[in-house]
Amino acid sequence: MSQPLPLVEQLKNLEQLQEIDLKIDSLKKNQSSLPGTLKQLSDSVKKLKTQLDTKNAALAEIDKTHRQTQAALELNRDRMTRSNQKLESVHNSQEFQAASKEIEQLKKLNGTLDEQGKKSATDREACQKEVEVLTEKVAVAQTDLDSQTQILSGQDQQFNSDIGALTAQRTQFSVNVEARILAQYDRVRGARNGLGIVPAVGGRCKGCNMMLPPQLFNEVQRGTQLHSCPSCHRILFVPNAAGSSAEQASVAK
Ligand SMILES: [Zn+2]
Repeated sequence: MSQPLPLVEQLKNLEQLQEIDLKIDSLKKNQSSLPGTLKQLSDSVKKLKTQLDTKNAALAEIDKTHRQTQAALELNRDRMTRSNQKLESVHNSQEFQAASKEIEQLKKLNGTLDEQGKKSATDREACQKEVEVLTEKVAVAQTDLDSQTQILSGQDQQFNSDIGALTAQRTQFSVNVEARILAQYDRVRGARNGLGIVPAVGGRCKGCNMMLPPQLFNEVQRGTQLHSCPSCHRILFVPNAAGSSAEQASVAK
C-alpha cells in the first residue's frame, strides 16, 4: 500500500476482516472438538476390550475348575470299583462294615463332585454367552470407531479447506489496512475475545458497553484519527448511516 486509504475506509476494511476472522475462529473451535469425539469412541472400545479380557479369563478359570472336577470324579470312580471288589471278598462282618463305610463315603463324595461338575457346566454356559455378547459389542464399537475416524478425517479436511478459503479472502481486506492498525487490531483481538474493532453507538462502546467521554465520541464520529475505547482498548468506529442505506439500495437492485 503506497498511499494509505482514508482512515474511514481502512476501518471499513477492518470490519470486514473481523467478520472473516470471527468465522475462522468459529471453524477452528469446531475443528478442535473433533479429536475429543474420537477419543470418547476409542475409550469405549478400550473399555469393552478390557471387559472381554476379564470375562475370557473368568471362562478359563471355570474351565480349569471343570477339568479338575472331572479328574476327581474319574479318580473317585476307580476307588469305587476297588471298594466294590473289596466288598465281594470280605471274610468277616468287620471287614464288611469297613468296606461298606468306605463305599458310602465315596458315594457321598461322588454326589458332591457331580453337583460341582453340573454347576461349573452351568457357569461355563453363562460365561460363554457373556463372552459372545461382549465380542459382538467390541466388534460393533470398533466398526463405529473406524467409520467415525473416516468421517471425522473428512470433516477435518473440510475445515482446513474452509479456513484456507477464508484466510485467502481476508487478504483482500488486510492489504487495505496499515500495518500499525492491523497490529493493534490483532493485539486487542487476541486479548479481548476475538473482537478487535467495535462500533461506538449513542456515546457507548459496543464492545464493553462503557460510556465514552463525549470529547472522544465526537472525535470517533469525525473519523480522522484512530481511537480506541479507554476501558477495553478495542478500536472504535461509527457505523455510517449513509453507508448502510447505500448497501440497502444495492441489495434492492
Ligand atoms: Zn470498550
